[in-house]
Amino acid sequence: MRQASKIVATVLKEISQMVKPGMTTADLDAYAEKRIREMGATPSFLGYHGFPGSICASINQEVVHGIPSRRQVIHKGDLLKVDTGAFYEGFHGDSCVTIAIGQLKPAAAKLMTAAETALYKGIEQVAPGKHLLDIAGAIEDYVQTQGFCVVEDYTGHGVGRNLHEEPAVFNFRTRQLPNVKLVPGMTLAIEPIVNAGSKFTRVLKDQWTVVTTDNALSAQFEHTVLVTETGYEILTDRNLV
Ligand code: MG
Ligand code: MG
Repeated sequence: MRQASKIVATVLKEISQMVKPGMTTADLDAYAEKRIREMGATPSFLGYHGFPGSICASINQEVVHGIPSRRQVIHKGDLLKVDTGAFYEGFHGDSCVTIAIGQLKPAAAKLMTAAETALYKGIEQVAPGKHLLDIAGAIEDYVQTQGFCVVEDYTGHGVGRNLHEEPAVFNFRTRQLPNVKLVPGMTLAIEPIVNAGSKFTRVLKDQWTVVTTDNALSAQFEHTVLVTETGYEILTDRNLV
């Protein structure tokens, strides 16, 4: 899990540093696939339920699951979400970063910061004896203080031998259970999605790309997190690669 996650962190860090206006999301996808394979892993997303890329690349009002495309050019001021996964010796790592392409408008910058902070508010709740709804509540409460809302159509998940495992890791309080108690050794993908406008989303005709129904901006950050004896370890931490 550590090695798979480290590969993911490395790819996302490198993409954050190299991405420039004028590139396409297909360029980033090709780079990610090349790097994942160079590091001895395989792309978790490629072929997953038929997904055609090694990354999901979602821009501005696109929420998640954007298909990399040679026709999708990245522009100055874009809010670009890149999500990727790597499968290494039987285990997956999964992480997502929102990248500012050049200078963002203040509202977009605030949204991006809120999404990243929301992720860390959730992660700070991770410890043995805590429950999934502690994570959910911390994320929901923080996002509300920022005047934004959490998308409810998608959740985080357990991650390990499979990319998506039980339990669902909610980013908002819900009666949908189980409200699993955290124990050391669990690995969770925590991935709040924060919208500037309404929380509602819809799927485009390509059957993958999810957009906000009001075309307002969306931002997301995700880490694969290990529950340790004393708290947590962020396995996809980009500061450690
Ligand atoms: Mg992901
Ligand atoms: Mg995930």
